Amino acid sequence: MFDVIFRSLSEGQSVLPSRGMHALPLQMASRLSEGTIHLNTRVSTVDGANVTLASGESITARAVVVATDGPTASSLLGIPVVESRKVGCVYFSADAPPTKEKYVVLDGTGNGPVLNVAVISNVAPSYAPADKHLIVAALPGVTDGDLEAMSRKQLRSWWGPQVDDWKHLRTYIIEHGGPVQKPPFSPRQRVDLGNGLFVCGDHRDTGSIQGAMFSGRRCGEAVVRSLA
Ligand SMILES: Cc1cc2nc3c(=O)[nH]c(=O)nc-3n(C[C@H](O)[C@H](O)[C@H](O)COP(=O)(O)OP(=O)(O)OC[C@H]3O[C@@H](n4cnc5c(N)ncnc54)[C@H](O)[C@@H]3O)c2cc1C
Repeated sequence: MFDVIFRSLSEGQSVLPSRGMHALPLQMASRLSEGTIHLNTRVSTVDGANVTLASGESITARAVVVATDGPTASSLLGIPVVESRKVGCVYFSADAPPTKEKYVVLDGTGNGPVLNVAVISNVAPSYAPADKHLIVAALPGVTDGDLEAMSRKQLRSWWGPQVDDWKHLRTYIIEHGGPVQKPPFSPRQRVDLGNGLFVCGDHRDTGSIQGAMFSGRRCGEAVVRSLA
């Protein structure tokens, strides 16, 4: 898993959709007929072809694809448990970027708590006003305490007192930051569970957008085959 991600980050370019990550699902949704997607609709149970929503409403379909995070997919489908890693993310605004590079800057010591930092506006200038820079510090596994103070303390040792001038924007705790994928690495997990039930998501391949989309393609192809 490390090799896959490290190769992608070192050989590929750092990119972001100029209109935000939201642009990806919007682009996919734009090709569907109106009313196909029900937003903010939590699924409570999946029983074969029957899906029950948190509202109590029931939906029956010829094919059911569960595309949630790993733990939710496990509980809805009874497949082997895939755990998620939590991550804390702290966003800052700065008048000057600490680096002009389009890199994910790693904590070479591995001690953290910040393990990587990116100046998002170096990659996508549209993510910040013209005279500002957007910086994000990621703290994998750190969800308690004052994440802003922890980040400032550590990043001051990287970039000096300029860090004190950064304005704190938001701190997010992301419950499902990525699937736990310990060695031995086994991508291409089953997506066709039989009887019209399917599962996709990064936990089926690699913990990345590429992994999520690749599993989605494998899953879509399996659905087409099953409905043919
Ligand atoms: C801070 C951070 C930075 C990242 N950076 C990168 C990066 O630079 N490059 C990269 O490739 N990857 C990155 N990733 C990983 C990438 O975001 C994920 O691998 C990818 O989004 C997983 O997509 P997915 O479709 O499998 O799952 P998700 O995007 O998690 O989608 C699952 C969906 O299921 C929904 N859901 C859950 N339970 C239910 C339910 N009961 N009923 C209905 N819906 C439900 C959720 O609301 C969610 O919308 C990053 C992740 C984080 C947290």
